[in-house]
Amino acid sequence: MAIVRLEEITRQFDRVPAIENISFEVPDGQFWVLVGPSGCGKSTILRTIAGLESATSGRIYIDNCLVNDIPARDRDVAMVFQNYALYPHMSVADNLAFGLKMRGADRQTQQRQVQAVARSLSLELLLDRKPKQLSGGQQQRVALGRAIAREPKVFLLDEPLSNLDAQLRDDTRAELKQLHQRLGITTIYVTHDQIEAMTLADRIVILDGGRIQQIGDPQTVYTQPANRMVATFIGNPPMNIFSATYHEGHFAIAGQTMPCPGVLRRAIAPSPGQTFDLGLRPEAIAIGSPQSSPPGDLATLTAIVELVEPLGRETLMRLTLPGSPTSFAAIAPGRVQSHPGDRLTVSFDGDRLFVFDRA
Ligand code: ADP
Repeated sequence: MAIVRLEEITRQFDRVPAIENISFEVPDGQFWVLVGPSGCGKSTILRTIAGLESATSGRIYIDNCLVNDIPARDRDVAMVFQNYALYPHMSVADNLAFGLKMRGADRQTQQRQVQAVARSLSLELLLDRKPKQLSGGQQQRVALGRAIAREPKVFLLDEPLSNLDAQLRDDTRAELKQLHQRLGITTIYVTHDQIEAMTLADRIVILDGGRIQQIGDPQTVYTQPANRMVATFIGNPPMNIFSATYHEGHFAIAGQTMPCPGVLRRAIAPSPGQTFDLGLRPEAIAIGSPQSSPPGDLATLTAIVELVEPLGRETLMRLTLPGSPTSFAAIAPGRVQSHPGDRLTVSFDGDRLFVFDRA
């Protein structure tokens, strides 16, 4: 097991930085997830830790040992890719044993480890098969097993679930989490899927344009996003954004008004006429008027229904403010008896309002 520390890592390709000034430290045994849109630099960070890519500048430490100049095979890390990369002519058992064999482990050790890994990943009945006789999910389990069998200090996973169909992805995600809880190997996991990030991570590192936007536990990045990018990337459906102008204690949104909560007024000290992007999560918008004597800064606005999607336990509504082209999402508990085109009252919860500078 190991601590992984990156200090001001930059990697350029043809003088263009793919990642810039990346610093973080993953404590021993934790599960960290690097997440962000395609091209934001996630894989480059992972490959640099693995030693498959060299840093243009900065330092990487594994357990306080500077590894910049240590070749990939000597870093004691195992990497799993989305395309499994199994040896097609070898049986599952031989695939699982491959890393151990390369390290010179004796036959008995190989067999013991293969059995243990096969047991923990439910592969015991598949040991004699070839990769092409396995389903996608089984192949990915073998790829994970091959990495685990080597008992690496660090586990690096690059979009390992993205080739699986939805149901299998959910199941394998849960298995991965349990596996980590059992083995406790320091793990760094790359995904573009914020749901995977939220469900798996001890800490999430959110990246955009090659730079870290925020590092935090899932709850913190959801409730206290550092900026608009994080706010709209984390959450499903994402945070709604409204363009609004500040006037004497109120925001004007598409011709309607919403009081600016006092705490925000003090925090941002807006000047009249200043325009902001206001952020409200779908669950901070209620359908209907506020209940009597609202506890927070609730604002009532008129909205038009665009789409009603019953999800069983709750209803997802897509709405617009009259005269505004941008739609927004609201989640209402239970079933909502509304139809596209209906006009209704919505309440915006000012206690859960975010104010971002205009993008
Ligand atoms: P992600 O994993 O988040 O999708 P990557 O780390 O793969 O992003 O890529 C980050 C940026 O670096 C992208 O703009 C990509 O085109 C660029 N890049 C990655 N690898 C190379 C390479 N070998 N040569 C040139 N550019 C690269």
